[in-house]
Amino acid sequence: MFEGVLIKAYGGFYYVKKGEEIWECSLRGKFRLGKNAAALVGDRVKVTPVREKTGRIDEVLPRATELFRPAVANVEQAVLVFAVQNPEPNLTLLDRFLVLAESAGIQPLICLNKIDLLSGRREHHWLKLYRRIGYPTVTASSKTGEGVEALRQLLTGSTSVFAGPSGVGKSSLLNAVQPGWQLKTGEISHKLKRGKHTTRHVELLVLPSGGYVVDSPGFSSLDLPEMEREELSRYFPEMENFTEDCKFKGCLHNQEPQCGVKKAVEQGAIHKERYQNYLSFLQEVMQQERRY
Ligand code: GDP
Ligand code: ZN
Repeated sequence: MFEGVLIKAYGGFYYVKKGEEIWECSLRGKFRLGKNAAALVGDRVKVTPVREKTGRIDEVLPRATELFRPAVANVEQAVLVFAVQNPEPNLTLLDRFLVLAESAGIQPLICLNKIDLLSGRREHHWLKLYRRIGYPTVTASSKTGEGVEALRQLLTGSTSVFAGPSGVGKSSLLNAVQPGWQLKTGEISHKLKRGKHTTRHVELLVLPSGGYVVDSPGFSSLDLPEMEREELSRYFPEMENFTEDCKFKGCLHNQEPQCGVKKAVEQGAIHKERYQNYLSFLQEVMQQERRY
């Protein structure tokens, strides 16, 4: 028996990477049954060899993280891609992605692409804001190749998923990182991608320097995950420094008087737009709570 990584599931077969080899495997009966038991791409699995490079998955090891759309296990890093322009960055969407990633236990990396379109200013103001909060960031241009090596290094040794609006250059960046991947880019493929989305199979792309990248964009579900209302501020790390000044235990930093977070917003220590996004997500989380 050996341990490997399930990198693709297709047509009833499961493809497991063992060193440089890919083994075509079946899944032992009992794992196929039941809702939670099936193997997901990204799973660490134990395989019993049957023939040369053919085996049977006998065990699925516990998952560190789990995404559902796309369905993939053990993603460690979410590369949240935005563009300088075309399309303009949507920071509410970025904040939503940050909450989605962190609540799933996945480390975010903010990637600003198309920096070739950034004239003059080398430092992008909103990127600076997120860097100050403590998020890792990288700037890149798949067009000029700038920042691509830095991105490649940040991907090495990790399992990553790319997320971000259509047209920001996710596929182009992946092709720049690893030309052999040949992901489809541009307008035509968007139509194809959209049409095929429901039946698409997820696959892990193998990075020669070590690591994996999910071949399909992450977080297609944009609803915030189910959570307690008190949990939300944890995903706005810059607020943590000020919650000690809140008078009420369990302060939601909303209507409560003597709130350290609100004071910090007024004093400019917490960015207003971030706080406004926090408030609107809070409404959403509370509405969700009511549904259960
Ligand atoms: P995706 O939808 O996020 O996968 O985006 P694509 O990779 O398909 O790229 C969308 C469009 O942006 C294409 O027309 C690309 O040529 C263009 N594009 C991608 N990266 C860059 C870049 O770094 N600079 C510029 N100027 N255009 C880019
Ligand atoms: Zn408060």
